[in-house]
Amino acid sequence: MTTIDNIKPVYLDGFSTLPLAPEARDKMFQVWEEPGNAGSPHSAGEAAARLVGDARDIVADLIGATQSEVFFTSGATEANNLAILGVARDALRSGDKRRRIVVSAVEHKSVLEPAKSLVELGFSVCVAPVDTAGRLDIDNFAALVDQDTLLVSIMTVNNETGVIQPISRVSAIAREVGAFVHSDGAQALGKIAVDVLSLDVDYMSLSAHKCYGPMGVGALYISAGAPKPTPLTFGGAQQSAIRPGTEPVPLIAGFGEAAKLASSRSGDSTLEGRAGRLFEGLIERQVKAQRITGSHPVVPGSLAISIDGVDADALCALLARSVQMSTGSACTSGQIKISHVLESMSFSEKRAREVVRILVNRYTTDPEIDATIEAISAGVQRLKSCIW
Ligand code: PMP
Repeated sequence: MTTIDNIKPVYLDGFSTLPLAPEARDKMFQVWEEPGNAGSPHSAGEAAARLVGDARDIVADLIGATQSEVFFTSGATEANNLAILGVARDALRSGDKRRRIVVSAVEHKSVLEPAKSLVELGFSVCVAPVDTAGRLDIDNFAALVDQDTLLVSIMTVNNETGVIQPISRVSAIAREVGAFVHSDGAQALGKIAVDVLSLDVDYMSLSAHKCYGPMGVGALYISAGAPKPTPLTFGGAQQSAIRPGTEPVPLIAGFGEAAKLASSRSGDSTLEGRAGRLFEGLIERQVKAQRITGSHPVVPGSLAISIDGVDADALCALLARSVQMSTGSACTSGQIKISHVLESMSFSEKRAREVVRILVNRYTTDPEIDATIEAISAGVQRLKSCIW
């Protein structure tokens, strides 16, 4: 018998994590069957090293880099920390006198927090604003970048809005003063074409679980021509000692498999079609939804909307068993706090609490989109009729 408890909810929370691709899962199971440390001097070690090397090649290829420029990490959080803290510490070590770091207001906390921590080492951190639809205000950004700027860090794609940032323009501005460029590409990899050479970045952070790979692995791209960040951890000589530690071979192999699928699927327009269909379905059912990203380019499948007069947390709670999505606020220490991203977009607390964030993924089906339209419109109607 089918009950509400055994119907699988529609998963639309892809900005938080994307489903693991079955191909990546199969590859990991296969690799887990065989022992092997990529540093061991025997055939099992060689096989493990080959798996790591193959994955490195595929990830490098996906972003237009060479394999010696890809350093595996535990995810984008670590990659962001390594880039920001590592570049700053390298400047202190090498005698580079520049002390300014420029970030955007909508960066992930794993960029903002390490940047902030550098203040005690004598760095200043400038925060560039975004417009009300979440795109970097390029003129204001340019005004903050000066001869004292060591590093700029602007994300390729925002994880709450899906907005694609103008990274080539960011790099051109940074180059004029000789600043290094880091971009957090966690939400871009596998969703849009990423080419580190045309974006002209020195460093880029990547995360496997945001591109249908496993959690717990990511990478930092370090351009061959850029200074090597000072390591955050010390140990063996793996990965040129920039990121020492035994490589997690199955996770890295799973990342490689996910990256392989991403490159073979580029140009897939179905995600955009399904997100559009979802939005139009809601409008047809008189749901007062608005895209919060205006006409800015967003990653395919992304739908960040506000729904007039509806508390998004209440809607998500109501639909928890049928549709899984995110909101623009989080409960921190018992208090509802709106996200720093929406705050930077000048959202009032009331409007921020009306925001629902959806990322349709490659496994989302049309019937799931239809079920979501029905569930959201019924939920909205129900919440609107509960006035006390
Ligand atoms: N940057 C962005 C833009 C993200 O969306 C995330 C994940 N929420 C991270 C960094 C952190 O990635 P990871 O989970 O791989 O540490």
